[in-house]
Amino acid sequence: MSLERQGIGMTSARTRERLIQRLMDQGITNYAVLEAIRSTPRHLFVDEALAHRAYEDTALPIGWGQTISQPYIVARMTELVLAVGSGSEKPAKVLEIGCGSGYQTAILSPLVGEVFAIERIKGLCDRARQRFRTLRMRNIQLRYADGLSGWADKGPFDVILGAAAPERIPEELYAQLAPGGRLILPVGGSNQQLLLITQTPSGPETMSIEDVRFVPMLPGVER
Ligand code: SAH
Repeated sequence: MSLERQGIGMTSARTRERLIQRLMDQGITNYAVLEAIRSTPRHLFVDEALAHRAYEDTALPIGWGQTISQPYIVARMTELVLAVGSGSEKPAKVLEIGCGSGYQTAILSPLVGEVFAIERIKGLCDRARQRFRTLRMRNIQLRYADGLSGWADKGPFDVILGAAAPERIPEELYAQLAPGGRLILPVGGSNQQLLLITQTPSGPETMSIEDVRFVPMLPGVER
């Protein structure tokens, strides 16, 4: 592993271990999720000036008014992605709306078959793509587009995950779920709830997970 990837000082193995302990203290129990977080160099997903804070359990700015998600929420959502009812097969196809820095996408990469990610800000998209290349994550396809309409050509998806909050559940995303598929999405304005919406023959089944705070899911694209 390269030195850059391993990290030094505040990005060292010991610093990372403290983050893992903190996530376990907060109730994250899925071993594969904890392992993915342990082995993913979060300091490569923020600006160098913030690298020394990369293993704190906080959201950090990534430019364009956006933030890299807090490790706790990434862990929680990833646990939900992997929690498949009876069997424990890993989800084959996952769609992520709001790739941002690419951190959540990178955590998903070793845990699922294929990750399709969409980002509406060109600058973030370009940087995330570069990071996936550096980390040789080959099962990720990233698209610069408005994710509110999903990615119908690549669907249906076992899981669709939102890293930004729409005011209400976008019909088009639900429509791109495979039978039994799950939409994991923060919904709301100033008060947001993380929802788990399951596709069933009789329509969506919605479960509320916890209160959350995400940036809004916005229509259209930006340079
Ligand atoms: N998981 C990311 C979260 C970034 S913040 C990370 O940890 O870095 C949420 C991201 O969603 C922002 O980058 C924002 O530009 C993006 N976003 C918001 N609305 C979107 C939309 N309609 N389509 C695609 N991306 C969107």
